[in-house]
Order: sequence, then C-alpha cells, then structure tokens
Amino acid sequence: MNIAIIGSGLTGSLAAISLAKAGCRVDLYERLSDEELINRDRTYAITHSSRKILDNIGLWSNIVSNLVPFQYLNVIDYELNKKFQFLLKDLGVSEQNYSAVGWIAEHKLIMIAILEFISEVEKINKIPTSVIPNTNNYDLIIAADGSNSITKKKLKTPSFNFNYNQMCITAKVLLRGVKSNEAFEILNSEGPLAVLPLGGDLFQIICSQSIVKGNHNMNQPKSLFLDYLSTILPYGIEPDTIIDEPKSFPIKFLISYKFYSGKYIYLGETAHKFHPVGGQGLNLCWRDVDCLTKIISIPFFKKHYSIIPFIYSLSRLVDVFSISILTDCLVRYSRSNINIFILPRTFIFFVLRRSSIIRKFILNVMTNGF
Ligand SMILES: Cc1cc2nc3c(=O)[nH]c(=O)nc-3n(C[C@H](O)[C@H](O)[C@H](O)COP(=O)(O)OP(=O)(O)OC[C@H]3O[C@@H](n4cnc5c(N)ncnc54)[C@H](O)[C@@H]3O)c2cc1C
Repeated sequence: MNIAIIGSGLTGSLAAISLAKAGCRVDLYERLSDEELINRDRTYAITHSSRKILDNIGLWSNIVSNLVPFQYLNVIDYELNKKFQFLLKDLGVSEQNYSAVGWIAEHKLIMIAILEFISEVEKINKIPTSVIPNTNNYDLIIAADGSNSITKKKLKTPSFNFNYNQMCITAKVLLRGVKSNEAFEILNSEGPLAVLPLGGDLFQIICSQSIVKGNHNMNQPKSLFLDYLSTILPYGIEPDTIIDEPKSFPIKFLISYKFYSGKYIYLGETAHKFHPVGGQGLNLCWRDVDCLTKIISIPFFKKHYSIIPFIYSLSRLVDVFSISILTDCLVRYSRSNINIFILPRTFIFFVLRRSSIIRKFILNVMTNGF
C-alpha cells in the first residue's frame, strides 16, 4: 500500500515507522528541517500505552534510557489541602514489572531517537516539502500536520473547538522538598499545575492560568516569577532557581467531527487537541497511530483500503471522546473554587484516598485509554 504522510512531528514520524513496519511504502512530507523538528522545547508524560506501542515497533529500547521514570503520581487539591497518590500497585500486574507509573520525556531526546530510527527504515522516503505533487499516487493520505492543519482546512472538515481563556507557562525549575521519582498534578483554582521530574532536583513546571495573569507573569523578571511559583506550589516544595526562559502557549480544545475526509485520515493533533492537564496529548496521538496500523495490518483491508478511513474514524471515537471529556472535567474541577463545590470535592478526594479499586480504574484509563 502506498501512503503519504503530511507532517513529521511526533505523530507523523511514529506513523511512518509503524506503517512501514506493517509493510506500507511511506512518503513523509515535512516543511521543517530535522534541526527545527528537534529544537522544540516541550516535555511529555509518557504512559504505558505509549511504552507498549514503542515496544511493538522496536523503538522502546532506543528511547527508554532518555526517559525519567516516576513511581509516585501525587494529585493535590490545593484549595482543600488534600492529597492522594497513584502508586505502582495501582497499575496492572504486567505494568508493575516496569517499576514506573509513567515516564517524563524531553522532546529533543525522543525526536532525535525517532528520526535516527526513520533513517534506518528503507520503506520511508522523506520529502522536504509541504506540497504533494500527485495525490493519485497514494492509496491513503495521512494528515498529521498539527492542530492548525492546512490539509483539514482545505478539505473543509469541521471541528468543535474553543479556547480555555487560559494560557500555559512552562519552565524548568530546581526544586527543594521533592523526590526525583515523583510527579505532581496540582488542582489549583488558577488552573491545573503539573510538576514533572527531569532527573535530580530538576523539574518541568507546566502551569495554566488566566491569560491576563499569564501575560503578567511572562513579563516579570525571573525572580518575581519564582516568587509567584512559591505561592502556587504545595507547602513543603520550594522553588530554587529557574534554569531556562519560561515559555507560554495558548490552550485550546479541538475535536474534529470526523477523523477522515475521502482518502485523507487525520492523526494526532490534526484530529484532537486538549488541555495539557492530564498529560494525555502525545499518548492519545500515538494511540491513533497504533489503531490505524492495526487496521491496515488486517489482510481484508489491504484489498478494500477505501473503507480504512471510515473504520479508523469509528474505532477512535470512544477513546478520543472519553479522554476529551475526562480532561475537560479535570480542568473545570480545578477551577470550581466556589463554596457549593467544596463538599463534593471533599467527597471525591475521600473516595479516591480510600478506594484502591477506583484509583486503579482511573489510573488504568489514564494509562491505557478506553
Ligand atoms: C507550543 C506547544 C507546546 C507544547 N508543549 C507541550 C508540553 O509541554 N507537553 C505535552 O505533552 N505536549 C505539548 N504540546 C503538544 C504536543 O507537542 C503534541 O501533542 C505532539 O507534538 C504531537 O503533535 P503532532 O505530531 O500531532 O503535531 P505537531 O507536533 O504540531 O506536528 C505537526 C508537524 O506537521 C508539520 N506541518 C504542518 N503543516 C505542514 C504541511 N502543510 N506540510 C508538511 N508539514 C507540515 C509541522 O511542521 C510539524 O512538524 C505542545 C504543543 C505546542 C504547539
């Protein structure tokens, strides 16, 4: 099967490898150079669903040494001053063997490993342009050109989308009072805040807040931003030094009404983009890749490939919609700091602290999707 992929971000690149391994001939179109693809300053939470996908295509062993595992995921309701933890024992039995609830990955390191892997796969032809000269040459075309996808605009596929009126600020910070194997999800009325371990005392802070406050914080000297961080981090965690320039980006919710148009298939952020709070973004994008590869590998669909886009779109519905709703609920929970919500919030935390079955269920959904 001949396939064109538009966009060589982490979704498009992984799709190229995965589909080439499934026997397809892949042309990978990207307008940016490898250097530009590598030099993005982002940090991802990697779950066991991504670990399994990378393992299946033989990439996990190349990447794992660049990842920082964490064994504790602390969820804190800042306003109520309540906390519970997801632990290794809340994972499935086979997952516990990996001694990590999840891993933290810096974009640069995984992109380098993936691009090196691509260069070794014969069936992938990298084409440094954004224009496909003749679309008739391909049985299927995959749009993995991101949340502002030009392909999807040209095909006039509608999406449901809104802005959260929030922005996300990311910074690498040296912290005191935190172990190097724990991550935090802090539900703060400003917006959710994630603290992700990068090794030793270094942590990535991903905090969301109103656009007004975010712009104010971005224009402050680093020392004042550090003071601000100390007011939103839980008691006992002290920010010491910011070691990079804080960066910001707007937060958007986007979900396509369908994940295909004709022989075009939408993968990754072309199809969906959510608030970064749950750390689901990249994992969901890679589950798209896995689902498409499984469909294409079925001999029946190799002959009847024109129905693959529809089958793919149908197969991804439940996972993408459920994760979108869960992520959105988490954002709304975090920002629902009015008195009538205090009782239900206290009850939710009480149940999550006490019930290992519910913790296991939630961690399983966050880890493997639906
Ligand atoms: C500014 C920013 C910061 C982020 N930070 C984080 C973070 O800290 N943590 C996290 O978990 N997630 C973060 N994300 C989300 C995360 O980057 C994505 O989930 C992940 O990269 C998967 O995206 P993708 O490959 O689907 O799309 P993208 O990474 O957007 O890749 C799309 C690719 O398509 C290429 N392209 C676009 N149009 C064309 C065209 N016409 N022809 C050829 N190529 C084209 C682009 O150059 C790009 O390389 C961030 C996203 C952004 C935009």
